[in-house]
Amino acid sequence: MVQVYLKRQRKRRLEMGHPWIYRNEIEEVRGDPEPGGLVIVKNHQGHELASGFWNPISQIAVRIVSYDTSERIDRQWLKRKIGQAWSYRKRFLAQTDACRVVYGEADGIPGVIVDKYGSIAVVQILSLAMDVRREWLVAAVQDILSVTSIYERSDAPTRVLEGLEPVVQCLFGDCPDEVEIQENGIFYLVDIKDGQKTGHFFDQRDNRLALAPVVRFGAQEKTRPDQRFREDQANQPVASHATSTRIGATVLDCFSHTGAFALNAVRFGAQQVTLVDSSERAIEQAQKNAERNGYRDRCEFVTANAFDLLREYERSSRQFDVVILDPPAFAKNRAAVPSALRGYKEINLRGVKLIRDGGFLVTASCSSHVTKDEWYEVIAEAAQDARKILRLVEYRSAAKDHPQLVGMAENDYLKFAIFEVRSR
Ligand code: SAH
Repeated sequence: MVQVYLKRQRKRRLEMGHPWIYRNEIEEVRGDPEPGGLVIVKNHQGHELASGFWNPISQIAVRIVSYDTSERIDRQWLKRKIGQAWSYRKRFLAQTDACRVVYGEADGIPGVIVDKYGSIAVVQILSLAMDVRREWLVAAVQDILSVTSIYERSDAPTRVLEGLEPVVQCLFGDCPDEVEIQENGIFYLVDIKDGQKTGHFFDQRDNRLALAPVVRFGAQEKTRPDQRFREDQANQPVASHATSTRIGATVLDCFSHTGAFALNAVRFGAQQVTLVDSSERAIEQAQKNAERNGYRDRCEFVTANAFDLLREYERSSRQFDVVILDPPAFAKNRAAVPSALRGYKEINLRGVKLIRDGGFLVTASCSSHVTKDEWYEVIAEAAQDARKILRLVEYRSAAKDHPQLVGMAENDYLKFAIFEVRSR
């Protein structure tokens, strides 16, 4: 077997649990590895550390698959790994009908994503090694998940780094264009063929539930005599009933995609939600989803650049009880971090300015290159510039179907926070 010797001077990332070997950490390669083939990784003294898949093109030269170099890496290995990933979801998720079943390295399968949408699996292959083992993947997914179709959405731009072309195809069964799923009691039509990524973002599932207490009532008490709130009435004299009523929040959901945050907000009692996304396709899909759930009359849809719209709402003094900001990853690499931070600051600054006193900012970042501290700092700066006092209500990360491998910081990518907002 081909042997890859690591340099003496290197960070002990592999030992700390990070499953990638970068090209510049390699001292010597003994043998002639095939692209995507298995190699043994050794330290500078020749001790075996792990086995992994070789890629002659990528900066990630080796992707670790096992710390037991005698383990056979074959069809059975993959089936075992997918079986373990599925057991983990069944143990920890309230609902496994629609969820992420395999999250790449965090599940020990380098560069493979498997999302389950009812009886359909959507797979994404992001590593050369798994690209050449596509047949194993199809067989294992069929076996473990008993799905009726498997669709491949290997059109992520990062495939170029592995020397791979985009591939989009039906791998098994009859692949429909759209599939209906249910999440948190809400129905979604997921566009598996043309939607973003694999069609739906499962990582925010539980964070959407965290909206409940912040959207149930608006920031300021309002009256609506025809909608009496029973708990309030219990200890009130009869005459004051009409003034003790509180109504749901008004919400701005920026970067709404197909409406997941917005629809959860309506479900939890928001009286009015404005959805904003620059993708016409996403807004169309959000409209269908609102319709499907009977929430159409509480939703307003805007196709626009959120940066522009936030400024426009500020100019027209439009106010909301809750502003949600769930943008795409602004930093695709470490070099893009400074400009990404300016972007995060900008939207959070514009966002907090639109929030009524006592209302809430619900904000997120999915850039793995931006740390939690860096992100927090720009939010604090935004609050300062807007002369607001923020109180952290809740900080959260990705749902449990996106496990975090200790030692692999890239896995800890999603940052989500709810802040109460008041003026200074
Ligand atoms: N909140 C969504 C996921 C958001 S993904 C959910 O819970 O499902 C990010 C979204 O931002 C995408 O739908 C993308 O179309 C949109 N987007 C990207 N740039 C934008 C911009 N400048 N203005 C508005 N929307 C944008």
